[in-house]
Amino acid sequence: MKINIFWFRRDLRLHDNAGFYHALKSDFPVLPIFIFDKNILDKLENKEDARVEFLQNTLSELSKELADLGSSILIKYGTPEEIWANILKEYEVQNVFTNHDFESYAINRDETIKKMLSEKEIGFHTYKDHVIFEKEEVVKKDGNPYVVFTPYSKVWRAKLEEKSWSFTNENGVEETTSYYFAPYPNQKYFANLLDTKPLNIPTLKEMGFEAANIEIPDKTVKQKVIKNYDEDRDYPAREGTSRLGIHFRHGTISIREKARKAQKLNATFLSELIWRDFYSQILHHFPHVEKAPFRAKYEAIEWRNNETEFKAWCAGKTGYPMVDAGMRELNETGHMHNRVRMVVASFLTKHLLINWQWGEAYFAEKLLDFDLASNNGGWQWAAGCGTDAAPYFRIFNPESQLKKFDKNLKYTKHWVPEYGTDAYPEPIVDHKMARERCLKTYKEALG
Ligand code: FAD
Repeated sequence: MKINIFWFRRDLRLHDNAGFYHALKSDFPVLPIFIFDKNILDKLENKEDARVEFLQNTLSELSKELADLGSSILIKYGTPEEIWANILKEYEVQNVFTNHDFESYAINRDETIKKMLSEKEIGFHTYKDHVIFEKEEVVKKDGNPYVVFTPYSKVWRAKLEEKSWSFTNENGVEETTSYYFAPYPNQKYFANLLDTKPLNIPTLKEMGFEAANIEIPDKTVKQKVIKNYDEDRDYPAREGTSRLGIHFRHGTISIREKARKAQKLNATFLSELIWRDFYSQILHHFPHVEKAPFRAKYEAIEWRNNETEFKAWCAGKTGYPMVDAGMRELNETGHMHNRVRMVVASFLTKHLLINWQWGEAYFAEKLLDFDLASNNGGWQWAAGCGTDAAPYFRIFNPESQLKKFDKNLKYTKHWVPEYGTDAYPEPIVDHKMARERCLKTYKEALG
């Protein structure tokens, strides 16, 4: 039997999914698939990784939703090449549909699979789904990419209002909407799913993992959080941010739906979603940022890279309460508040003069919402070597940040209960000395 395949990756939902919609509109029954990529999973040292468990649970839910629609999802564990080779032996595939991914590993993977498919004359169709605007959609008039956020965001917002496109709604009626919203597959389209019994899902154990028992933030967010976002978002003790990061990362929610809500409820929240697009297009236009500073001259900085100090930072034992609270929150929950991310990243790179890539790698291992483009952007910003980075001589004072954003120590005391007692360590570095040392080191490197 001839079939088409929809390949799920960072878009784990059935509704408002651009590639899935196009697959369902196609000429042959659609078999959805997902690959637990051995190349990626083998690199994870912590075998109780909450993100793998999250993926497994999410796929089980998707599988149930598809069973209710009389279909299933084929979930395999292995390298994409070997899994695809097996699929092509087992099924008579006509076309493969999937959504774009911007990371270099994913781009190379897709190239390899596309080649493998084209040798058998199988189409490989890809769509934008993960961001609102991608690639060259928001660029300067001369065609060059933006590297500063404010002008980028102005054009981004203007473009959002600009165009429209039409789609057929659940009742079969043609509708027009702003063009960044992907149409919904309706019951008619779902009928084009391959009629099949539920298929096996690899267990965590089969993939070498165990349950992590870390709580995953909900994918719904209280309207009041979004409404009061500008007032509350900088205070880590408040319920002031959405905690949707992991859901945006894996596409368990639709960026288009959230952007539409943000547009109505809170411009500042929408602005955060624009930052997400901004860093994604930076990675697309400047792929070198994955391995090196955006600004090449920052290569010259002589990092101290003291391993004992790095360990103290990782463990939340630097003697700077806001830094320690943040690192302990990260270690225990896989989350850290954005304000605190900025403080700990600045402390590592500027006070301790440890290479931002060490911090970037530690975050990549621990963050539930880890996303290469945003994490890299955040770290390069903190170190001063990225796009739109604050000038290097602006160095966060962790004590003033604490006084400003956690005045009553509610957040700090929650994560560092011994703060204020003899059990709490002395600062590993003096602020004034560290500040001067940093200025001197950066100045020497940058001339
Ligand atoms: P909210 O404040 O509710 O924002 C909503 C969504 O907007 C976020 O979930 C995220 O998708 C997006 N967003 C918000 N701020 C940013 C930003 N500055 N850059 C890009 N997207 C943003 N974000 C990640 O998604 N993954 C990362 O790996 C990551 N690493 C970071 C590392 C550093 C050093 C810094 C300073 C920031 C990093 N961020 C990262 C950005 C930001 O801290 C998180 O997106 C945010 O804290 C997630 O919490 P939330 O879901 O409650 O966000």
